[in-house]
Amino acid sequence: MILHQWSPNGKFQSRLAYEFFRPKNAKLAWPKLVWHVAIIPRHTFILWLGLKDRLLTKNKLRDYIEDQSCPLCSAQNETLNHLFFQCTFGKQIWANIKSWLGIFRAMQSLKATVKWLIKEARGIGFLAKIKRIGIACMVYSIWEARNKRIFEGKVENRMPSLGVFKFNLIKFCIVCSRI
Ligand SMILES: [Zn+2]
Repeated sequence: MILHQWSPNGKFQSRLAYEFFRPKNAKLAWPKLVWHVAIIPRHTFILWLGLKDRLLTKNKLRDYIEDQSCPLCSAQNETLNHLFFQCTFGKQIWANIKSWLGIFRAMQSLKATVKWLIKEARGIGFLAKIKRIGIACMVYSIWEARNKRIFEGKVENRMPSLGVFKFNLIKFCIVCSRI
């Protein structure tokens, strides 16, 4: 019933899922930051699932699948923290974008990252928006690369271009400036 609700034309629409899940009376600080209007809904949705520990990494499916290895590096088992903070592939994406955003702090977990963002990127200033959009964009990109590897067999031999991130960020800044 719910899936049908999110896919009126037979195609899943993250915007509808976003509206369904978006906390309407959030008291915690992080939902306000994550569910920010400036962040593209599908990026917010993946970041939110990650923060709630609901992303189905292989360690959560250990009763159903034998191969627990990380689809991006194959070096270790796939867990949420490995994928986003220990994997060589994920770490390289973080390094590129963090450097561009002028973030030098080491990130250890999604919760710690968002907690830091709440302090560091509060407000409606340009840089604060860019940081929020950038972090959500990074998380989504790593999850997307991981899914492409598993479900489509696509291998990213090179890191996603920083240009793609910049393009996305600028596009959303333009949208933000109209809000
Ligand atoms: Zn890995």
